[in-house]
Amino acid sequence: MDEQSPAIETDVLVIGAGPAGLFQAFQLGLLGLRVEVIDALPEAGGQCTALYADKPIYDIPGIPVCTGRELTERLLAQARPFIEGRLHLGWVIDTLGGTAEAGFSLSAVSALDAQTKGPSFQARSVVVATGAGAFLPRSLNLAGLIGLRQVHHHLSDGACATWAGQDLLLAGGGDEALMALEQLLALPTAQAPRRITLLHRRAQFQAEPGRIAQAEQWIAEGRVHLAVGLPTAVHSEEGRITALDIMGADSQTTTLTCPHLLIQLGLSPKLGPLADWGLALARKQVQVDPASFASSVAGVHAVGDAISYPGKQRLILCGFHEATLAAHAISRHLQADHPSHLLYTTTSPVLHRRLGVAQG
Ligand SMILES: Cc1cc2nc3c(=O)[nH]c(=O)nc-3n(C[C@H](O)[C@H](O)[C@H](O)COP(=O)(O)OP(=O)(O)OC[C@H]3O[C@@H](n4cnc5c(N)ncnc54)[C@H](O)[C@@H]3O)c2cc1C
Repeated sequence: MDEQSPAIETDVLVIGAGPAGLFQAFQLGLLGLRVEVIDALPEAGGQCTALYADKPIYDIPGIPVCTGRELTERLLAQARPFIEGRLHLGWVIDTLGGTAEAGFSLSAVSALDAQTKGPSFQARSVVVATGAGAFLPRSLNLAGLIGLRQVHHHLSDGACATWAGQDLLLAGGGDEALMALEQLLALPTAQAPRRITLLHRRAQFQAEPGRIAQAEQWIAEGRVHLAVGLPTAVHSEEGRITALDIMGADSQTTTLTCPHLLIQLGLSPKLGPLADWGLALARKQVQVDPASFASSVAGVHAVGDAISYPGKQRLILCGFHEATLAAHAISRHLQADHPSHLLYTTTSPVLHRRLGVAQG
């Protein structure tokens, strides 16, 4: 991203594209406010996609059962009229400045490399929907690794395109790494790596038994090569990774050629910059007024797992309620000249127009 790109102007910036942030964007859009959404992860959904994408959820009103991924897809589809082209993924908001009167200035950096500047925003209001914190991928603890090209932390389409037909080193021995292995081996030949080496510190994996059995079978069949040891140093040429030094159980170091490295060690939530934004916190949760979900900083609201108030439950449907009341409070403040009455999506032509649906 060009450091000089002008700030994106919007009515409201929603920080976090988990279930609370996505529904927040929908509610704000319904009320006629312009909204932008940003998240540290390369895909939306927060915990639902990062932690339990394929597991069932049974307590979403009106949906007897759906997986974390299905719920995210539904929330994205619902919010699409308001967030198309306005969802910024892979960026962490690291600074929040300004006031409700002057407007807020926010800037983002890459979730993988804090030196890489991301988009900046000028917003009249901000919603903190940061959940448990920014989910950042765990990396290998190696000096000089950050910022190297061909080092990947996410199995995205873009990354797949770069290693097609080449050798790939996959670091990790947990569910994330073995799931990535499944996806890599299922790729069509034109997109698949030529050779996959799984690098883990031990010959035993820590994952679901079925996944371990499958991975061991692929290793026995020679479809996947196993390298056991601890990475100790990285080699690079012109900013591109070329090899890793690996120390084995016998304390001998070998150098493993590594034109592409995919690190799958799971995600870890980082509270990060939230602590520096001047918001009143209680046990790392943003304290809010449960009537409006306003934080202690005028113009900044907070919803979802990031907040605390008497009776708060960390449930998705509580986040939906909080986002709805926050949206109405923000609208009352930003659109004080033309306060809107409560409108029903069933019958309101205004809401139908905003949603882009045919008027009944
Ligand atoms: C295993 C498991 C099962 C669960 N099952 C259920 C269930 O059955 N029913 C239920 O109701 N709830 C369930 N939950 C809880 C539910 O997932 C959470 O309540 C919900 O995800 C909270 O939504 P959220 O949008 O507030 O936060 P999150 O889902 O945590 O999303 C917050 C997002 O904000 C992003 N973010 C944070 N800081 C920044 C920053 N500075 N810049 C950019 N992005 C940032 C993060 O990357 C993240 O994507 C479950 C949780 C777990 C772990």
